[in-house]
Amino acid sequence: MDCLFCEILAGRIPATVVREDDRTLAFMDIFPATPGHCLVIPKTHAVDLAAIGAEDLAACALAAQDLARRALEGLGAVGVNLVNSCRAGAWQTVFHFHLHVIPRYPDDGMVLPWTPAPADVDALRDAAAILRG
Ligand code: ZN
Repeated sequence: MDCLFCEILAGRIPATVVREDDRTLAFMDIFPATPGHCLVIPKTHAVDLAAIGAEDLAACALAAQDLARRALEGLGAVGVNLVNSCRAGAWQTVFHFHLHVIPRYPDDGMVLPWTPAPADVDALRDAAAILRG
């Protein structure tokens, strides 16, 4: 296995753990976007959002909520972003599902990664039809 996060789970690579339960582990991101930025991972390897099992995904979401509350209450964050990158085309670089929990602070330098603009109505309807299945 050549997975960085599985190595952390196995204790072969150190991490600053902040939360653990039966299904998840959370630890500080060593390349933080803001102070308190941490990652939540499932203990069972899953490559990405498309591959993770429902129970592990739910457990990761609940762990992220818990950490978001701690950041809001304890770190003085004024907000929190949860970020998941699914596949290389969406910036995923470690191929073990993870949720970034990013506390936000006034003037923290974070910027919205897209430019809001009105949708093309036909393209919106076409995509919606596909997403409805
Ligand atoms: Zn892994």
